[in-house]
Amino acid sequence: MPIRILSPEVVSKIAAGEVIERPASVVKELIENSIDAGASEIKVEVRQGGRRLMRVIDDGEGIPAEEVELAFERHSTSKLKDAEDLYRIATLGFRGEALPSIAAVSKVTMVTRTKEQEVGVLLRLEGGKVIKQQKKGAPPGTVVSVEDLFFNTPARLKFLRKDSTEGGHISDLVTRYALAYPSIRFSLLSEGRTLFRSTGSGSLYDVLIEVYGLETARQMLEIASLQGPVAEEGEGPKISGYVGAPGLHRASGRYLTIFINGRWVRDQLLGYAIKEAYHTLLPKGRHPVAVVRLDLSPEEVDINVHPAKAEVRFRRSGEVFAAVQKAVRHTLKGAPIPVVASPRWAPEPRTPISRPSPGQMALEVQRTEEIVPPKKIPLLRVLGQLGCTYIITEGPEGMYLIDQHAAHERVLYERLLSERAKMAVSSQSLLEPLTLDLDPEEAAILEEKQETLRSWGFDLEPFGGQTYLLRAVPAILKGGDLSQAVREVIDEASRQAARWEEEFVISLACHGAVRAGQTMSDGEMRELVRQLEETSSPRTCPHGRPTMIHLSAEQLQKEFGRS
Ligand code: ADP
Ligand code: MG
Repeated sequence: MPIRILSPEVVSKIAAGEVIERPASVVKELIENSIDAGASEIKVEVRQGGRRLMRVIDDGEGIPAEEVELAFERHSTSKLKDAEDLYRIATLGFRGEALPSIAAVSKVTMVTRTKEQEVGVLLRLEGGKVIKQQKKGAPPGTVVSVEDLFFNTPARLKFLRKDSTEGGHISDLVTRYALAYPSIRFSLLSEGRTLFRSTGSGSLYDVLIEVYGLETARQMLEIASLQGPVAEEGEGPKISGYVGAPGLHRASGRYLTIFINGRWVRDQLLGYAIKEAYHTLLPKGRHPVAVVRLDLSPEEVDINVHPAKAEVRFRRSGEVFAAVQKAVRHTLKGAPIPVVASPRWAPEPRTPISRPSPGQMALEVQRTEEIVPPKKIPLLRVLGQLGCTYIITEGPEGMYLIDQHAAHERVLYERLLSERAKMAVSSQSLLEPLTLDLDPEEAAILEEKQETLRSWGFDLEPFGGQTYLLRAVPAILKGGDLSQAVREVIDEASRQAARWEEEFVISLACHGAVRAGQTMSDGEMRELVRQLEETSSPRTCPHGRPTMIHLSAEQLQKEFGRS
């Protein structure tokens, strides 16, 4: 083929691809435009996870009727005059790419009016072409409706995930912007149902309550402003926000939110700085909950690195890193009681869940064998309990000391797996249903996993908004602090991780198991040991810790100088 210049239509689709990856990208660009327009209220409405419709309504300054068509031209912006301005960007947008990109791959209707003009204007574009423009009565502000995203780019359309997943990304985004802008009143409606709403009171703490619930917000500490020289010089970054006390941690890293000059970024370096500040304060493999806001002079940070501006580059990254780490660490030092890492979360080798497909099953069995040789344990006679934690037993080869919690975990884990394989996990109805308040993304993930959770014995019923009613739990969970156990198990289930089910079952077994420190009767101990003997991998708990240690008759003889 000869070389030729691409048609403007192809060029605009390629460019759109850089900015608009999925429905949430559209919502992000529209929200940022509303914020730049000085809105005090931003309403987001979606249908079918944004695929069918996304609408953003603001009460910002609007666009003058004579400029509205221009706003959809490529590289048209009111936020930048010359190249010099690039070094002192104070708005979220500046590239003039969002509206034309959105218009290129969807059907857009904009209704906008400035305070100065008496009547507004309606502009409709399909696939980037203006098909209608007319006067329209409207309150000051802007409404952008985006319908049928990717209708003309089938390849993109195919890459979209389930509506609930795409919707989850949108609610995640809206809640993060609400956290970044506590003075703006945000709301999110999906299929006409309000999923989230912030008050616009100006208090970040209020938004934290809306997003994470009161229980979590209460465990968050306001970042203490540092009185050090950095803050006084006035040129270092100003760091504010909230970080979770060390007792508050989650299974996934997505509870970490970072804003730089009001822009939500996924900055690896800063994420690392925050996690480092928690060093030794969190159990292994767990992640903090934090909302950290950095404000620094626009010259100190280059946001023009990425088309969607999700990444930034700092002029003095070392200093920024140190300042963030110091501020967080300083705040945590004032926290009540540090939590010591518990072995429960240690990333030990573990036995994988066998799955039904025969090919995979063979593979899993192979792997199981590699990790834990399916060696049976001898028949054991219970002698007593030690420190309410260990069961002392005797076998043909000497003494065996069994960790009651680890042993029970192993028993329950295997029982759950075999019941699940028969689709017969026993479930226990609760006399009083438990109420679970989730954040929008958790709710979306759980909705997707609801059937799977049901097969594990959870009866979870949507109760409006992000509230769920838990009507039944797996029977093994009946004793103990149920709401705490459920919260942690559900936390595990609401991870996006590919192997979440594995962690989830382990967590379930862990919460169902008898604790260390719990007195057990002789009968209970005998029953537990008998059940352990029947498991296929009796020697380790599902986390990989040993369930028992063996003191052989030979060793005993040696220790006592008998041989
Ligand atoms: P950018 O935000 O980078 O300038 P966009 O394509 O997102 O580029 O928007 C183009 C222009 O349209 C903006 O510079 C702004 O002047 C105007 N605009 C877009 N959305 C709004 C809105 N919600 N309210 C007021 N003006 C808007
Ligand atoms: Mg913009």
